[in-house]
Amino acid sequence: MRIKYLGTAAAEGFPAMFCNCVHCKQAREDLGRQMRTRSQAMIDDDLLIDFPPESYLHAMHGGLDFSAVRTLLVTHSHTDHFYAQELCNRGYRFATQMTEKTMDVYGNAEVLAVFEEGTKREIRPAVSEGLRLHVVRPFDDFVAGECRVLALPARHSVKEDALLFCIQKHGKTVLWLNDTGPLPEEIYPFLAKKGICADFVSFDCTFADDEEPSSQRHMSIFQNSAEREKMVRFGLVKANTKYYVTHFSHNSAPFRDRMDALAGRYGFFAAYDGCEVDI
Ligand SMILES: [Zn+2]
Ligand SMILES: [Zn+2]
Ligand SMILES: [Zn+2]
Repeated sequence: MRIKYLGTAAAEGFPAMFCNCVHCKQAREDLGRQMRTRSQAMIDDDLLIDFPPESYLHAMHGGLDFSAVRTLLVTHSHTDHFYAQELCNRGYRFATQMTEKTMDVYGNAEVLAVFEEGTKREIRPAVSEGLRLHVVRPFDDFVAGECRVLALPARHSVKEDALLFCIQKHGKTVLWLNDTGPLPEEIYPFLAKKGICADFVSFDCTFADDEEPSSQRHMSIFQNSAEREKMVRFGLVKANTKYYVTHFSHNSAPFRDRMDALAGRYGFFAAYDGCEVDI
């Protein structure tokens, strides 16, 4: 499996569009290296996790064929993870000779509601036909393309069942864990019972090294470390499992070198826009 991080920032992006804090100002001096766009990842060229407003840019920068995507897994309905309007361009006269005729979109009930709201003015019937939407609930176990997917509950929103994903393909397992605060306890015995042993874990690290996170809806690297210890205790990981951190806030000063050093100190890798990992 090849995992490509297309975007690695929290909701506001880095630098944030409307922000003149010292970090954002400094990042604007070196956008080529420091810019982080909103969260999205691609697995093996045919599966996307999340669909932020930068999806267009991600496809262009990576030279990617998004029409080849068969599966879109949406973690939750926040705009930095799901910009439904863009899907109106998938077909009709806006996209011809697409690699895949249909794309399956999996998300919670709120994601489907946002899809309806966001596309109702512009979507053409021919485009609708190519999008199959599926409601997913925490602890669902389903097949999407060549992958087996387990949906896990996130600690992120009281308004919707935000989801995390365990994705398995060709004997490899990925745990995708943003957006969330410390993981709900039920996840551990559930994954253990399913016999999950992850090769790759991607953590929400919005707060980086902030000792006193301002909410329980995201995590710091210290909380990531505590979750990793629990994973070891429950036998959900192995000696060579790779651990990445992502979804950084501008408040955390997520400069590339700083995050590399911080992550490295605690045995993680810091994701950046465009970074690729083979497992
Ligand atoms: Zn987010
Ligand atoms: Zn800022
Ligand atoms: Zn969110």
